[in-house]
Amino acid sequence: MEKPAHIAIVPSPGMGHLIPLVEFAKKLTAQHNLYATFIIPNEGPLSHSQSEFLDSLPNAINYTLLPPVNFDDLPQYAKIETRISLMVTRSVTAIHATISSMMADKNIVALFVDLFGTDAFDVAVELGVPRYLFFPASAMTLSRCLHLPKLDQMVSCEYRDVPGPIQIPGCIPVHGKDLPDPLQDRSNDAYKSVLHNVKRYFMADGIVVNSFKGLESGAIEVLQQVEPDKPPVYPVGPLIQSGSVQSNKGVNESSCLKWLDDQPSGSVLYICFGSGGSLSSEQLTELAMGLEMSEQRFIWVVRKPNDKVADATYLNSHGDEGTFDFLPKTFLERTKNRGLVVLNWAPQAQILSHSSSGGFLTHCGWNSILETIVLGVPIIAWPLYAEQKMNALMLTEGLKVAMRAKLNESGIVDHSEIVRVVNSLSKGDEGKAIRVRIKELKEAALSALSKDGCSTKTLDQLVSKLKNKIYIDRLSNFL
Ligand code: UDP
Repeated sequence: MEKPAHIAIVPSPGMGHLIPLVEFAKKLTAQHNLYATFIIPNEGPLSHSQSEFLDSLPNAINYTLLPPVNFDDLPQYAKIETRISLMVTRSVTAIHATISSMMADKNIVALFVDLFGTDAFDVAVELGVPRYLFFPASAMTLSRCLHLPKLDQMVSCEYRDVPGPIQIPGCIPVHGKDLPDPLQDRSNDAYKSVLHNVKRYFMADGIVVNSFKGLESGAIEVLQQVEPDKPPVYPVGPLIQSGSVQSNKGVNESSCLKWLDDQPSGSVLYICFGSGGSLSSEQLTELAMGLEMSEQRFIWVVRKPNDKVADATYLNSHGDEGTFDFLPKTFLERTKNRGLVVLNWAPQAQILSHSSSGGFLTHCGWNSILETIVLGVPIIAWPLYAEQKMNALMLTEGLKVAMRAKLNESGIVDHSEIVRVVNSLSKGDEGKAIRVRIKELKEAALSALSKDGCSTKTLDQLVSKLKNKIYIDRLSNFL
């Protein structure tokens, strides 16, 4: 009897990538009888909550941690994209050893990597295993990635100096300054890492993207146009967090939900900057002042401020050690009747699905966007890093389901702007229109995932290709 189909997955360890890949694996194992093993590169022990998250996976999904890579030679200022990409590059030998030993007793039908992990494709090629990219961001970002090698050849200056907006196939025009951080300095290693990886996307037998037609029809249509050397693209989203990711002591979940139970329906603004976002001290103080002056009910996930980088805690954000010393003096006391402040990590999906939640001030990470859409919660967009400015544009100007918190001349969202957006979302006409539109998107998301929905059918097609181990021989172009 043939052994059951098994997929190997090489994620990057950040929660924003791990969560959707785990949801994808859960769908494949629960609905399509596949098995999955996560093979995880890392630079040291995972945090307690990352380990707890992985330890709670269903039986059909295993994980193995690779030996930690050594980054002693990396400059201190190396960007996160360089680190994640190098983490995979330096783990290739270990990935090879792990998959070949798995092949002794398992029917490995595919290797999935995420957006910075394409060096692991070499292992799949050597072992004759079909290789796939799982893209945890938007179809628009995928389209931009696939277009980047051409852009790199066409444009000689920094992208932010290109006059007028840059046209990306199937997407709303974007100014160079709104492209992701690693594209802002083409001489930096982070840009080279991104370019290296996106060129290798074309080696994939298929690209799975966590989006759906009702959300990004233009970009998906372009991505699915058949072209020589372009891998087929499978939009299977929205895949959102179904279990909970606990903070270190698991205290936040019950206290947040209990607190929400006591608030009026639709009255609470949830504020969170993803798994890695941190604000400067000045910005944090302005946000605290704005929240207090708005008189809005809120749950705020706060992190120790960082004046240098906005993605300071991306790879290890979710402990609950520490104190609130960095908040303005007596802020907690003054707002305790209508605000709950949570350190580092909160059960986001559960909070957004609670009937008391009425708005989400978000850094516009793609998972957060999908979660708020599926749960029908209107948005205040406050992008910080990575591709979040593009996501914010899509939400405000494209889909019109978000208000944008605007920066002042010093690059700060000041307290009066915070009062403005928070009150307009909860009380103004714009907020009302946004609530109507987000409900429509929620319906579209549920329809995509229904039995005959487009994402369900696309996943069925993908699974049938996986089970038949269909392998595209386009490698002569790359090797
Ligand atoms: N998340 C959470 N609690 C937090 C912060 C984040 O559960 O306090 C989850 C969130 O629900 C989402 C993921 O972590 O699933 C963050 O992914 P996203 O793409 O929004 O942002 P990133 O962390 O990648 O910047």
